[in-house]
Amino acid sequence: MTVTHDQVQAQLTGPGQLFEMDEVPGHGGTVKTWKHAPRDFRALLETSRFHGDKIFLTYEDEHITYEEHFRRAATLARRLADEYGVAKGDRVAIAMRNYPEWVIAFSAALAIGAIAVPLNAWWTPQELEYGLSDSGAKVLITDGERAARLTGLSPALIVTRGEVPEGARAFEDVMGEVAADVTLPPVELSPEDPATIFYTSGTTGRPKGALGSHRNIGQSPMTVAYSMYRSVVKAGRDPGETAGQRRVTLLTVPLFHVTGCFAVMTTTMFSGSGLVLMYKWDPGRALELIEREKITGLTGVPTNVWQLLSHPDLDKHDISSLNALSYGGAPAPPKLLERITEQLPTRAPSNGYGMTETTALAINNAGDDYLAKPDSIGLPMAVVEVKIADPLGDELPVGAVGELCLRGPNIILGYWNRPEATAETFVGGWLHTGDLARVDSEGFVFIVDRAKDMVIRGGENVYCAEVEAALFEHPAVDDAAVIGIPHDELGEEVGAVVRLSSPATAEELRAFLRERIAPFKVPVRFWVRDTELPRNPGGKILKTHLRREVLGS
Ligand code: AMP
Repeated sequence: MTVTHDQVQAQLTGPGQLFEMDEVPGHGGTVKTWKHAPRDFRALLETSRFHGDKIFLTYEDEHITYEEHFRRAATLARRLADEYGVAKGDRVAIAMRNYPEWVIAFSAALAIGAIAVPLNAWWTPQELEYGLSDSGAKVLITDGERAARLTGLSPALIVTRGEVPEGARAFEDVMGEVAADVTLPPVELSPEDPATIFYTSGTTGRPKGALGSHRNIGQSPMTVAYSMYRSVVKAGRDPGETAGQRRVTLLTVPLFHVTGCFAVMTTTMFSGSGLVLMYKWDPGRALELIEREKITGLTGVPTNVWQLLSHPDLDKHDISSLNALSYGGAPAPPKLLERITEQLPTRAPSNGYGMTETTALAINNAGDDYLAKPDSIGLPMAVVEVKIADPLGDELPVGAVGELCLRGPNIILGYWNRPEATAETFVGGWLHTGDLARVDSEGFVFIVDRAKDMVIRGGENVYCAEVEAALFEHPAVDDAAVIGIPHDELGEEVGAVVRLSSPATAEELRAFLRERIAPFKVPVRFWVRDTELPRNPGGKILKTHLRREVLGS
């Protein structure tokens, strides 16, 4: 007998059940929460210590157990407090590759009530400096590669894996001896306390800091767990059937985005499973690691999975351990699901929707639902409420297309020092996502379009306004419009239509931009237009019109 989603939800969230819900004040009213989730990150970290000798982090030939991770994080927490004067509410920035020290730094900062500020490691020095000054970071924990590029910075610098510039200290020196009986320094934390600032952009160009709370962090691993339980129970299976089996996840996306940090890293920490880190994303290396580390799950962006499936070595590796493929953060074309079903038929794919502002996962499509509705992002998590709104914020009827708005314990507090942007995006307790969507009669959400002017390249958001602003700094550029070029593997690539006042080649423009913005934002293609760019009466460039003109679509 097939069970309905309502029955599954009732079973999982019933009184005394793991996913029992509660209600707490928040977002101008009350929000539902997972009653049994950790109340803050510190609780999550302390609980993770019970996983003791199990391996938490693997990086190349380095293995860090849960106990070791706790000790190192607690040691660094003490050093940050004692030697750097880091107190509750101070900002500690992290900018590095997905090294184990990233996780240790994150855990240490949060455990003492400091706000962790993960910065995009692909940013140029200018962009990194902006993130540091906007957040007012007291300390930056970084790797040798970035330290070499950052000169004359104000925060104290702690450097791992590479040369330590003058005035900075090596991570290992700061750590000193890691005592077996180290404890966390005392601090009073409440779930509403701010915990993280992740940079995300808006229409104005400059990235803004999304301020996440300890509640957001504590709730998020339960949300990910709920999505898994929901699909298992819906398929008529027992969620306890795999209990006791070791789960190992391959981290294919950066820790400085919420997918890597929350959907993967803190969720792993919560469940006591293993996390394998990569020097950088490389599908060939990923196949080797899946075989070597007996990876059971992979959570990333659709591009990761697409590239794995296209890799010439796919059949040369024993990847039989891999049983779950989850992706999100960018539209997943139905063709991707077709390819997974064809090439890796026994793997359970799932498509998750989330944003920086939703602390990763909010809506998820998996199992038979996903096969039946491959173009849907699925059903919201039990604690998440969905509204499709008209431009005034009023709810539209089933089937109508409007802006996707969300409420729940996963929604961030607002933007760091940006009351106006906060007021614009969070209206009446609802997060306005900037995505256009509809909901069908069964409650499944379909993303129809993006209302925000953004290109998503391989899961990495590129804000058109930011690239346009950088282009306008070039003396030959009279007008510029940045658009997305459809791309099978990456989803989209960045293109620009420009009007020039004097000659400039595409290569000159690219070299100019590379000095100012991260390489992934630099357009791969330019179209030069002799006439004015098409605009509406309000002066806004008609991008759909432009796209049709240059791309024919
Ligand atoms: P970010 O804040 O960088 O995580 O980007 C969030 C945006 O990515 C959303 O507002 C959507 O436009 C897009 N996005 C995330 N997940 C999905 C998904 N599963 N399908 C379609 N678009 C998605």
